[in-house]
Amino acid sequence: MALPKLNTVEYFCKLPVSGIEAKYRPFTVGEQKVLLQALEDGENKTIAHTVINLVESCSGLSESGDSVRHLSNTDLEYLFMQIRIKSVGEETTIQLGCKDQPECDGITPVKVDLNSIQVEGEIKDNKVMLTDTIGITLKVPNFNEVQGIVEDVATISTNDLFTILAMSIDSVFTEDEVQNRSDFTEKELDDFMNELSTEQFNNVMEWFNELPKLVKNVEFECSKCSTHNEVKLEGIQNFFV
Ligand SMILES: [Zn+2]
Repeated sequence: MALPKLNTVEYFCKLPVSGIEAKYRPFTVGEQKVLLQALEDGENKTIAHTVINLVESCSGLSESGDSVRHLSNTDLEYLFMQIRIKSVGEETTIQLGCKDQPECDGITPVKVDLNSIQVEGEIKDNKVMLTDTIGITLKVPNFNEVQGIVEDVATISTNDLFTILAMSIDSVFTEDEVQNRSDFTEKELDDFMNELSTEQFNNVMEWFNELPKLVKNVEFECSKCSTHNEVKLEGIQNFFV
């Protein structure tokens, strides 16, 4: 005899970057087991893929034709956090090192209320001027694009950064002409990028740095030397590993 199917509650939230209204359900005990195994394993790539598979199963995005993989990292992290809160609660304990490292090797368990994590930053005008007359428009890279380039988000190289930046350029414009991605080749874009001055490059990077991200300011006394620590946590890896 077939066992009865358990009903699950559905929730909704608005994603901070794309503004998409996402439907989600809590994860099951079986799904949680897989997640815990990935966290124990500690490999960033494994964790990222486990998280994305989990969010894919628990959200209604694929029903509406959207894919979780097309979300920006911040939207993905935000959605995962909402699912996590509804599944195992809003409290998590993270292990934080002392600011006096390497003198102090104390590791302090710190409780974090996931509901108090905030989204900081904004998508400003997606236009960045490089000179008085030449500019570019940028788009937020999605999870799939970033994963395709970066082997491991914890060890992102300058070269990776350069590639992500190039991929995020949507168009190049002058006073009287707009060239979209289909109008120029990878090689032409690469040459264009290589000609940027450090200042121009930094202007573009500033746009990326100001994109919305999950942040939480945490204060704690080191369990070993009692030093007062204040840290700002950014991104999901910090909240769960
Ligand atoms: Zn300490």
